[in-house]
Amino acid sequence: MAITVMEVLKNLPRTNCGDCGQPTCLAFATHVIKEGEDLDKCPHLTGAGADLGQAVRAQQEAGVGRRRESLAISLEVLQEKVAPLDFAALAQGLGAAYGEEAGRPYLLLTYFGHPLQVFKDELRYPPGAPADPWDAILLYNYLASQGQEPVAGRWIAYNSLPNSVSKAKTLVRLEQKLADHFAGQTAQLKQRADRLGGETVAVGEDADVQVAFLPLPKAPLLLLFWDAEVEEGFAPQAHWLFDASVTHYLDLEAMLFLVERLMERLME
Ligand code: SF4
Repeated sequence: MAITVMEVLKNLPRTNCGDCGQPTCLAFATHVIKEGEDLDKCPHLTGAGADLGQAVRAQQEAGVGRRRESLAISLEVLQEKVAPLDFAALAQGLGAAYGEEAGRPYLLLTYFGHPLQVFKDELRYPPGAPADPWDAILLYNYLASQGQEPVAGRWIAYNSLPNSVSKAKTLVRLEQKLADHFAGQTAQLKQRADRLGGETVAVGEDADVQVAFLPLPKAPLLLLFWDAEVEEGFAPQAHWLFDASVTHYLDLEAMLFLVERLMERLME
């Protein structure tokens, strides 16, 4: 049986240190399986991870496991987790509406402003909504959380969460990328945020842009952006903040994943 992205990921240190050139271990595992990336590019492999190298190389040489296949297998794992859940009981807590179609339960979830029908084994987009196969990974993670907490209405920093120290570096890299991309382009950032349904808020910061997004019903994100001030010698800065209830809906990895999805839409 083919080695999957999840199997490679399980054998990586999962510190998201970025030394392999990818922002996260998940991204690296995906590149290994879908693009034929060399597993040895992770310099921190030990034990089972190092042993896996030979099998991965053999699979790569045989041309097994490309993006579509590995994605399908990762999804399968998540959908197996979601399969026994009672959608009707979970709907309200997840900020979704419950429905059935020909006896098949589904949750109607607003994702980046589009109502998506999430069946246990199928994700259905409305006409015209942009579809990305990676969305399904994030959405089934969200459902698997079974979160029922109300949104706290209080913003917290990623690095204030338990066990976030190593992964926080990934977020810093993402923030830097966003800040560099929109340096001198505050108006453009505001315009794109607006297009994505971002809502300008005032959180008491002196940031040039303060926008709250609701990419998933119970997972609001706040973007703070300070443009460069060349004369003062200040570089541009960006920070992402999360609602204090976020860990009831997304794990640390999925939070980064959500930021990446949102940044792709902002920067495209
Ligand atoms: S180098 Fe770091 S980010 Fe890349 S796979 Fe290894 S542990 Fe993960």
